[in-house]
Amino acid sequence: MEAILRHVHPWLREAPSFVVGDPPADALRLDLNEGAYGPTPRALAAIADGALRGNRYPDPEAAHGLRAGLAKHLDVDPSWLLFGPGSNTLGSLLVRICAGEGGRVVYSWPGFPTYGWSARRNGGIAVAVPTLPDGRDDLAGLAAAAPGASVVVLATPANPTGRYVADGLAEFVAEASKHALVIVDEAYYEYAPAGPSGLDLLRDGAEVVVLRTFSKAWGLAGLRIGYAIMSPALRAVARSAQDTFEVSALAFRAAEASLQDAAEIVRRAEENARVRAALQEALGARGVPFWESGANFVCASPAEPAAFIAALAAEGVIVRSTAAFGDPDRVRIGVPAEGDLPRLLAALRSATA
Ligand code: PMP
Repeated sequence: MEAILRHVHPWLREAPSFVVGDPPADALRLDLNEGAYGPTPRALAAIADGALRGNRYPDPEAAHGLRAGLAKHLDVDPSWLLFGPGSNTLGSLLVRICAGEGGRVVYSWPGFPTYGWSARRNGGIAVAVPTLPDGRDDLAGLAAAAPGASVVVLATPANPTGRYVADGLAEFVAEASKHALVIVDEAYYEYAPAGPSGLDLLRDGAEVVVLRTFSKAWGLAGLRIGYAIMSPALRAVARSAQDTFEVSALAFRAAEASLQDAAEIVRRAEENARVRAALQEALGARGVPFWESGANFVCASPAEPAAFIAALAAEGVIVRSTAAFGDPDRVRIGVPAEGDLPRLLAALRSATA
């Protein structure tokens, strides 16, 4: 049966797999960095309405009003926006069009593994730059690896560290973009403290692509919709490398409708910041070191990570080892909705008793 694999590119014959798992319905699932809340009220209505037109293909260009609405929301030209079924797919697309066989893709490690996977899926080389001892991205190291690379990625806030770039983003982009396509992955942007973003730099003329998503604060992870903001010339090429229909009409409609609930997203981000602070305080009080996070999860280093994860699971709280992200000694804990915080804190007490 396996002989058929001879037709497959050699670098794809041993494919990595990502297992999401399916914990019990009553578990408090804090292992996938999902938003604590689902679609906004207007998004839910748009989903119900859109379902009635499920026989129709989506409109990838106007994106059912999302292109115009999001361009206004972000204050960018509509021609700068590219949509995909999750920002993940757009990162992979950019790697595919810029780094082919032998191309180098530079990213932080511990970090989000799909950039390395994307590089390898195209016969390219994943170049992992170690983060600094305090978990922050090594901007100088990433920029130093840019000559000879095809793509350099910086996620801010980063996964799994939760660290974000407060200073030096402009200098990093200016330097690295002399050599390679620079992607600033802002999947957790809505949760981050106010500060300079990749989008500010793009508006100021920097050569950079910014990735954002409706998966996290906007509560649409299951519908799969993310976007990239970039030069219209690059957008046209990237779009031509996509399939005709990638994002579903339901996802477009839900995202478009949620823009009118933008105040709810601000509220969610404020709640996330409060709950994150409470979680960090509890970890500190229980003697569990952690990195100050700018996202909707906190990266902690309990003395015995496996036992800690198992003890939380015994209380019905599911968190994730960061082993697959390059650090076997840490644990990533999602920030729950405020109503679920007491359950998480109680589980933490029992895991650290
Ligand atoms: N970038 C980072 C750093 C992430 O952690 C994630 C989600 N885990 C994504 C991108 C992708 O999110 P999505 O494809 O759902 O937009």
